[in-house]
Amino acid sequence: MLNNLKPNEKIKIIIDFSLIIPNVKHRFGYGENTVNFGNFYPIACVYENSEFKTDLYSSNGDPFYSECSQYNVEITYDESFILASTGEQLNTSIENSRKTTFIKARNVRDFCFILSSKFKVLEQKTGNTVVKYYYYKDQNPEDSLNIAIKSIETFNSTFGTYPYSQYSVVESDFVYGGMEYPNLVLISDDLQTQSDYEYVIIHETAHQWWYGLVGNNEYENAWIDEGLAEFLTALFYDKNSEYGVNYKNIIKGAEANYQIFLDVYNHIFGKIDTSMNRRLDEFNTEPEYVNCTYVKGLLLFNELRENLGEKIVERVLRKIIDKKKYKNISYDEFISYFEKYAGEKSGDIIRSYVN
Ligand SMILES: [Zn+2]
Repeated sequence: MLNNLKPNEKIKIIIDFSLIIPNVKHRFGYGENTVNFGNFYPIACVYENSEFKTDLYSSNGDPFYSECSQYNVEITYDESFILASTGEQLNTSIENSRKTTFIKARNVRDFCFILSSKFKVLEQKTGNTVVKYYYYKDQNPEDSLNIAIKSIETFNSTFGTYPYSQYSVVESDFVYGGMEYPNLVLISDDLQTQSDYEYVIIHETAHQWWYGLVGNNEYENAWIDEGLAEFLTALFYDKNSEYGVNYKNIIKGAEANYQIFLDVYNHIFGKIDTSMNRRLDEFNTEPEYVNCTYVKGLLLFNELRENLGEKIVERVLRKIIDKKKYKNISYDEFISYFEKYAGEKSGDIIRSYVN
């Protein structure tokens, strides 16, 4: 039947499936406190350059790539649970000890929800967005909510207003750090200090712009969204000195970590590959992936800032968000935006790091 589908014709596809939720503290799984529904349903492959991107799951990085879409979701769950989700929860009814919630999510590239009977919720509106913090273990929940709000406000004024009515930060049984989804981020309940909560919340909130609004192929160019999330975190501290973290010290720390990575790998293997545009399954180890993506990504954007100036880099990034909002950006397009708005030299800098 699909053979008969003509260009511009539409077809309805119904996928009926059931899942067993694994007992694992990961994107899709459950622990003692939360049930995490990240990447739990089949999603359409991105179609580009006359082919579907069908990369398989990788244990490195975030092996996801998708287009923005419109979601209408109905979730039925035990009434003891509180639900955190992507999108806007329109209404919830209760019948026979079970809640049913209707959710509408517009222009999002994925849909995630988390259930817990232990959640406490704090919320506050900033601009057009209600920021919610779902937590159960955090000893300083007001501080965590405030850092989420301050992150949204800082990135609103630097890169353009967050266009969604809801943003939720969700403490959860998660392996480490955090994980970004549209309108919702997970943060691990294993975070130890307030500054850990702070750093992870800023980083994951930065992904609402880079990954959320402007997507990229996280399988092939993971450094774009991870490098930018790290760079925006450093920018956040630079623009909000009251948090007492110095931008230059973040860069110095990254340089020191990167040098250690080079030294150790050269010592052990006698050679090292630091190219950044590798597919996730082409990184040999987790440290190699982290250093070539997060750390070197941050150093690349800092190099652009040093060479072009803070204002120019921020203006180009804002321009890209304006033009590519709700879309995906390729590596070549990313470079061409820099070359167009910041000069040829910027492209050379990016290529020299990436290659
Ligand atoms: Zn990240």
